[in-house]
Amino acid sequence: MQATKDTVVTLDYRLTLPDGEVIEISDPADPLVYLHGYEEIVPGLERALEGKTKGDRVQAVVPPEDGYGEYDPEGEETVDRSEFPAELELEVGGIITATDEDDDEVEFLVKAIDGDKVTVDFNHPMAGKTLHFDVTIRDIRAATAEEIEHGHVHGPGGAHD
Ligand code: ZN
Repeated sequence: MQATKDTVVTLDYRLTLPDGEVIEISDPADPLVYLHGYEEIVPGLERALEGKTKGDRVQAVVPPEDGYGEYDPEGEETVDRSEFPAELELEVGGIITATDEDDDEVEFLVKAIDGDKVTVDFNHPMAGKTLHFDVTIRDIRAATAEEIEHGHVHGPGGAHD
């Protein structure tokens, strides 16, 4: 079976940056399981895996536009410390999860603190970066009708797990 739309792919992966910095290595006991064709993984990696089969090793270099997007300078904002709850601890490098006006969860990075001015960054931490994936496909199976309807994987490693 090939990795194609409406299949569930199980894989081990290693993500590094062009300078060799290791960002993530999947746990062998907890491989990544995703539904192919539903943008659950970055588009560049999904494209590289298209048509591959169990046991294949795929090394993909994914530019920002096919990964987590270009870095948006407007995603950076400087606001007054008083706009955050007083009890919230802010430290440079910290990731804060907040709720926006639509009640959606947003995450941002505290980039700098200068007196009572706080610079935050809403870009994805991997925005603007070229991603090097080294992937081995462990298993591929047909998705169930329910998984296709939900647009995600059920069972171990899945959305309701
Ligand atoms: Zn579901």
